[in-house]
Amino acid sequence: MSDPAATPSDDVPARPLAIETRLVQAGRPAPTPGAPVNPPVVLSSTFHAGGPLGYARDGTESMLAVEDALGLLEGGYAVTFGSGMAAVNAALDPLPVGALVVAPRHTYTGTAVRLEELAAAGRLRLRTVDVQRTDEVAAACDGAELLWLESPTNPMLEVADIAACAEAAHAAGARVLCDNTFATPLNQRPLDLGADVVMHSVTKFLAGHSDLLMGALVVRDEGGAEAVRERRVLLGAVPGALECFLALRGMRTLPLRLRRGEASAAVLADRLREHPAVTRVRYPGLPDDPGHAVAARQMAGFGAVLAVETAGHASDAERVCAAVRVWTHATSLGGVESLVERRRRWPAERSGVPETLLRLSVGVEDVEDLWDDLDRALAAVPQGQNPV
Ligand code: PLP
Repeated sequence: MSDPAATPSDDVPARPLAIETRLVQAGRPAPTPGAPVNPPVVLSSTFHAGGPLGYARDGTESMLAVEDALGLLEGGYAVTFGSGMAAVNAALDPLPVGALVVAPRHTYTGTAVRLEELAAAGRLRLRTVDVQRTDEVAAACDGAELLWLESPTNPMLEVADIAACAEAAHAAGARVLCDNTFATPLNQRPLDLGADVVMHSVTKFLAGHSDLLMGALVVRDEGGAEAVRERRVLLGAVPGALECFLALRGMRTLPLRLRRGEASAAVLADRLREHPAVTRVRYPGLPDDPGHAVAARQMAGFGAVLAVETAGHASDAERVCAAVRVWTHATSLGGVESLVERRRRWPAERSGVPETLLRLSVGVEDVEDLWDDLDRALAAVPQGQNPV
């Protein structure tokens, strides 16, 4: 991991470099004459014996480079995986049989389904909570081994008070994991707020171009990271060299992409709540959003994902998705291209998610182009009706 106290060099004033600068520098080969500026993509599953690398499943230079950058961003030690779900499973794997896990009622579908599956098989016990209610979270942590947080949640944009929840969980003897995919480490650093582990779908904002799958777990100390690496070796869900290269390249522009997307998200959220075809906007940046006060305290920005509920029925919300031309109708989030989808089109999505909820991931296009397209597509919805 990069030295947190890094300064430009000994002969310039000792002002610490900004995170944007350090992100551009992270994960590069040593600057010796003739060396490449970027980490090379090494396509080899095995390495000549006797050196620091043995077998690609144990770790490669490509993984170390991207992990250097992510560790820097989160203020810890990162271990990468072949997808976000691989990271989810690696986080759950060490839990003892029958361990109690407390998780948000509206956590990301894949996580929720996996937790339910493990609970049904008797591998774990599961308690789901409204993460917006710290008292409910605290009470549920009694006897728990792990508090799984996600904030803001996908796709309901519910905000947990991470510091307060972590304090309550620790008092009850539970460890705390926070899925930081929506916020990104530029807006929220869960380790600083008391979480023990940060989880990412690197696939999303960190990589930023919808061209790869990757996940990560980030922990506070090298010893903890070594234990996570051992899990990765045995579970086998490693990222490939090209994915590592692309994710690191994408991460270098995260500050630019995120700040642009969230500025546009704020504009769109404001306009959408005045739109006659929209019955509700969920975005923690809106002053009257239930998560606003906590988000304003623990986040540096409100992120580039929002959700709207349209008037009418599921079929009306689907018509909006079919009508967009600048937005892309597709699942996922965090890419340079703006994406929209009706989350309940997936049978596994939580039943508490409204049928007409559209999740909007705001990319880097011109905000007026995004607005015009959405406004035109929303004309497909019968205006002023409540969803049934
Ligand atoms: N966590 C969140 C919040 C997500 O949105 C996703 C994917 O959508 C995941 C985890 C799983 O990540 P992946 O799709 O990279 O496996």
